[in-house]
Amino acid sequence: MPLAEIIAIGTELTTGAKLDTNSQWLSVELQAVGIPVQYHVTVADDMTANVNVLRTAVDRSDIVLISGGLGPTLDDLTRDALAQLIGKQLVLHEPSLAIIRGMFARRNREMPERNVVQAMFPEGAEPIPNRRGTAPGIYLEIVRPGRPACRVAAMPGVPSEMKVMFHDDVLPRIRPPDGAGRVIRSARVNCFGLGESAAEQMLGDVTARGRDPEVGITVHEATITLRIESTAATIAEALEKIAATKKIIFERMGDYAFGEEDEELEDVIVRLLNERAQSLAVAEAATGGLVAHRLTNVPRHECCLRGGLVAPDERTLEPASGANSADDAAVKAAASRLAQSCRERFAADWGLSVGRCSRADDHEGAPDAPTVWLALADSANVRAVELNVAGDPAILKSRVAKSALNLLRLALLR
Ligand code: ATP
Repeated sequence: MPLAEIIAIGTELTTGAKLDTNSQWLSVELQAVGIPVQYHVTVADDMTANVNVLRTAVDRSDIVLISGGLGPTLDDLTRDALAQLIGKQLVLHEPSLAIIRGMFARRNREMPERNVVQAMFPEGAEPIPNRRGTAPGIYLEIVRPGRPACRVAAMPGVPSEMKVMFHDDVLPRIRPPDGAGRVIRSARVNCFGLGESAAEQMLGDVTARGRDPEVGITVHEATITLRIESTAATIAEALEKIAATKKIIFERMGDYAFGEEDEELEDVIVRLLNERAQSLAVAEAATGGLVAHRLTNVPRHECCLRGGLVAPDERTLEPASGANSADDAAVKAAASRLAQSCRERFAADWGLSVGRCSRADDHEGAPDAPTVWLALADSANVRAVELNVAGDPAILKSRVAKSALNLLRLALLR
């Protein structure tokens, strides 16, 4: 299987002024046709750096895709760097020059002399037409002793030009022949309520390196995503392998696994509430309305969400709650009362409350980790849980909101 490398050229990328989205897009496209990408390299508009990067890429990768540096200005170095790499001159390609002149003529503009350089190609290279802009791409096969040639394609940096060129003219040159190709398909299972290492432990050998299909773990704002990646000769075979691995994941993760692909906790809740024809009201302090916000992102939330209250402090929402007491039992009781009162106020089946975040100085003596009380009430019961919110403050709200939603999800499953 040939391995690919992607090189993004431009000082605006290495300075951070612009984000390299071309490499991301190209990687996804290559994966879809079964070409694995091993390296992404970003390099400034510097001749020596460009040639060094290209030399390394041609040595270690079989397909090298380049974006950027094909413009007419002096800092556009890609064609010179390729010529230097293979030790050839740049030669004029008259048909490309005629096309570039034609584009200027159609816009009633005179072609600046500098644009001639865009019709120059390293000797032996093939011009790739640009259907969207002026700069043609460059395709060349670089001979490597004892190994198949390395296929190199240089495309413009402008994303819309690059995408068309990749699909129309580059992909046909690098696509594995029919039957020889491997397809790659992926799937995601989302989990909540445990840490990354605990998830890894529960999954056991599923996350072992080199397993087929491979399963990777990523965490985003306390949601754990298990990404299954399956490579096979046919799409059907890849999907079959994914289904078998998914089954094992759901068995091992139990109730921690809540959804697939882009599904969020709030999607599951709206679905479960609507299936049961039940309703919900929320009262939020620490999350500032984020629980309601997440729920209102979901289609058909208006069928089940009766209302919500927001205040920086639950004492405003429920003055009789007694939540200013430092006593744990009193804070817990206050959280419970808040869940019950918001449920009654909106005549909902469920009331979900999120208290304010306790500060370390709420307690005398050694500072405790900050906590938030969550409570869930239905007509018969109320249950309050204390959530430890030590950790990254940047994701605190999101983590607390998800924990509140998860409390309800687990109750709905029972
Ligand atoms: P042109 O002939 O249109 O100038 P070029 O090959 O010289 O094309 P660059 O000058 O390197 O391309 O980049 C043109 C524009 O394309 C940049 O200003 C930037 O907005 C965008 N661009 C370049 N590289 C990337 C990249 N890797 N990811 C996203 N955008 C990019």
